[in-house]
Amino acid sequence: MKIQEHRAREIFRQYGIPVPDSEVAVTASDARDVSNRIGYPVVIKAQVLVGGRGKAGGVKIANNSDEAFSKAGEIIGMDIKGLKVEKVLIAKAVDIAKEYYIGITVDRDRKQHVVIVSPAGGINIEEVAEKTPEKIGKMWIDPAYGLHPYELRNVLFGAGFEPDVAVKAAGILMKLYKAVLDLDMSLVEINPLVLTPTGEVLAIDAKINFDDSGIYRHPSLKELKESEDTDPIEIEAHSRGLTYVRLTDGNVGIIGNGAGLVMATMDEVKRAGKGIAKPANFLDIGGGAQASMVKNALEVVLMDPNVKSVLINVFGGITRGDEVAKGLLLAIEGIELKVPVVIRLAGTNWREGKKILEGSRLIPVETLEEACNVITNWMMEKSNV
Ligand code: GDP
Ligand code: MN
Repeated sequence: MKIQEHRAREIFRQYGIPVPDSEVAVTASDARDVSNRIGYPVVIKAQVLVGGRGKAGGVKIANNSDEAFSKAGEIIGMDIKGLKVEKVLIAKAVDIAKEYYIGITVDRDRKQHVVIVSPAGGINIEEVAEKTPEKIGKMWIDPAYGLHPYELRNVLFGAGFEPDVAVKAAGILMKLYKAVLDLDMSLVEINPLVLTPTGEVLAIDAKINFDDSGIYRHPSLKELKESEDTDPIEIEAHSRGLTYVRLTDGNVGIIGNGAGLVMATMDEVKRAGKGIAKPANFLDIGGGAQASMVKNALEVVLMDPNVKSVLINVFGGITRGDEVAKGLLLAIEGIELKVPVVIRLAGTNWREGKKILEGSRLIPVETLEEACNVITNWMMEKSNV
């Protein structure tokens, strides 16, 4: 589960991590009142569950109440990577001497937490990692030995943090690690952690993801999960009993039966997609592939305006291919298909199934490779117009 920055800041405060004062607003006039209370300059920040808000124009500084009103008005309602901004965070703006990155996540290969730090934080951190990896420090945590400030300072110095900043950043990382363990976080990130001209070290952004499998252990998170405004299409999908996860920058709707098959399909669409066709979602309709499930799945996938084509990859096992095909035809009755839907049937009776689908509005293919090629070519044609 991801949470919005304002909630992550609350958790930071509870753990004693220094965060500037902030409040949330949902209208421009709200934002002006809050800003007047906090005192200028303030920074107004879109509250959406994606990164890169700064680059997208979702982070703006306001120096007086007129600016607070107009800039909040610009940000509220804005679309950032397909998500509509409903809420802004207003924080006391800080003077920045330098931006750093610190974070803790799970390294699945090593089965350990890993601390990641960089003295070159800010909105270009991905580029830093790619082009100047020597500016990134990493340290894996042995859970039996725990985390110790001296080790952290060592890594921070090594990555190029100035000594007095390193000491403070190490203190903050100790608190973050406690929070990670207490609350089963899968990721916590401060980007940027900033040094002010007066030598203070503060977190001015806050990102936390929780391990969904641990949420049941934390009643307050469970409540949050239920109340947190997540993606409206995900809410709709879950209410229909579908396992659906929406991705932010995809354009190919993916439907399959079985989580492994769906994930493999996503990988293959991406690999074959030449950077143009990208999976827009994960949707697993589960074992039986009944007509009602397929219909629900198609409807949900097509709710995403970014979806420009759909790939259904069904393996006929217990349910035979001809039954799946009949189910699909039933499923598309009464559905308006504005984008091409490619279906790859495999397994028992796939030939019979394919025959049933020929001449319908669905495009049956035999292999996943063929399906991906059809989709990629279609998307390339579309992107050329
Ligand atoms: P993100 O782009 O979604 O990660 O949003 P951030 O909260 O990290 O903000 C992006 C950038 O805006 C930061 O890297 C800062 O350079 C700038 N910024 C954010 N808050 C402040 C602030 O209080 N003062 C100043 N001067 N800049 C800020
Ligand atoms: Mn940030």
